[in-house]
Amino acid sequence: MNNTVFLVGAGPGDFKLLTLKGLECVRQADVIIYDELVNTQFLREAGDDCELVYAGKSSGCHTLPQDQIHAFMIEKAKQGKTVVRLKGGDPYVFGRGGEEAQALRKSGIAFEVVPGVSSAIGGPAYAGIPITHRDYASSFHVIAGHSRVDGQHANEPDWDTLAKLDGTLVFLMGVGNLRKITQYLLDGGKPADTPAALISRACGPNQRVVTTTLVHAYDAATENDIGPPAIIVIGGVVSLREELNFFERKPLFGKSVILTRAKGQNDRMSQKISDLGGEAIEAPSIKIVTIPGNRALELEIARLNLYKFLIFTSQNSVDIFFAKLYEMGLDARSLAGTRIAAVGSQTALTLSKKGIRADLVPRRHTAAGLVQEISLLFAPMDKVLIPRAVNAPFAFSDALNADITEVGVYETIPDHSSRELALSRLREGRADYLTFTSPSCVSGFVAQIGAENLPLLDPVRIIAIGPVTGLAVQSHGLRLHRQAAHHSSDAIIECIKEDAHCQDAPEDSAEPTQSEAL
Ligand code: SAH
Repeated sequence: MNNTVFLVGAGPGDFKLLTLKGLECVRQADVIIYDELVNTQFLREAGDDCELVYAGKSSGCHTLPQDQIHAFMIEKAKQGKTVVRLKGGDPYVFGRGGEEAQALRKSGIAFEVVPGVSSAIGGPAYAGIPITHRDYASSFHVIAGHSRVDGQHANEPDWDTLAKLDGTLVFLMGVGNLRKITQYLLDGGKPADTPAALISRACGPNQRVVTTTLVHAYDAATENDIGPPAIIVIGGVVSLREELNFFERKPLFGKSVILTRAKGQNDRMSQKISDLGGEAIEAPSIKIVTIPGNRALELEIARLNLYKFLIFTSQNSVDIFFAKLYEMGLDARSLAGTRIAAVGSQTALTLSKKGIRADLVPRRHTAAGLVQEISLLFAPMDKVLIPRAVNAPFAFSDALNADITEVGVYETIPDHSSRELALSRLREGRADYLTFTSPSCVSGFVAQIGAENLPLLDPVRIIAIGPVTGLAVQSHGLRLHRQAAHHSSDAIIECIKEDAHCQDAPEDSAEPTQSEAL
């Protein structure tokens, strides 16, 4: 039974410019064949069992030849799989989408096209250049900047005609040919001072735009080292960039931030950073390993009615505790008689998703503050259960005057899988901020890059979620740049935003108090 192939346009680079229909296709795909230009964030939306195939066509180097892409799509569709061919921008703008559709049609495979925002339009928009404007251009023309090289068709545009058009000219795949393009247009009579823009890596945190004039465009590209992928825009609309440049004015534009939480826990921060125009570099430094089986936890859950209080110190403990509860055939009603404290707003949020509103979310996160606030809840002999990490450094039983039972539900171990990524960004000086949300992330990150590489962190601004984590940063001999105002990932982002805003302001006096490591 043949299945449908979807030719999906992924948009020009910003993940959120993918259409709803495109996102639905990605989520439902059995196989995704994707290109070089597609932001890899799309692939995270794919199901766990989805087969991901890179067809990476970067300029001149075809990882998968075109006929093999056709054959592969057809073969998978014939196996009854839902195939998504994900292409940068719009699938029918250059990129050979038309040929792929023809090949499918010829083989009797059903296909659908999901149009995308072409970089020809989206790229200039993110550079502050409207592709048309009543005062400047009432048409636009998108031209392939390199001719077809198979020798069958010359496919050269009519340069004299192009030169005479008043509309905006947009060249894709044109940087390699820029000298020729500008020369032909000048020869055709286009004024030398026509505004021109070169937009490299549009719609993403590494977007770079050079504005110049037609006659200087080639030199400007060379001087500024503009390489593919880039969009060349020629026309009066380019002069609007100064006024309409919204993207590069976003608070974190041009800033890169390393995130060190466990895999799967960086999504929210990552999202926020890219919404603010920055680049999130995910380098998980710890792994959360659930204690397998965990008879001890089962035992405590079975006698939950004996406990007056339950303290959750992290999202992980909430998730693991509830997974066990459900596994035992129970649900949130088992907690009806228990009062609950959640440390950190994210922990409280995770709890609320399970239908539980925490009785207390301590405002302070130092050990002393926490203990003080929590102590107000119970009497000396009350029984308190704390499901938490086995290797958490701080022992509640020493600090709280109550009958405390701490049960280990997970362990944090170092994750070294992002070592190369982190090191290469640090060596290239392409990491502005490094964020830590717990002491274990700090030691995990240090272990990951290796103590010998710590000097690479000198120019990097280190931000900690709170005093305990700040202290852990300093205990490794690292310089803490700032500390978030509240114990939450949102507060870390706020902190970076403020810092980026006043880069020259004196450094914050982050003064970790005492260890309250949770
Ligand atoms: N189908 C795509 C175009 C494919 S041709 C679309 O509709 O956008 C590939 C060319 O598109 C590149 O050589 C470059 O000129 C341009 N391009 C695509 N995405 C780009 C981006 N994010 N930044 C700059 N140029 C881009």
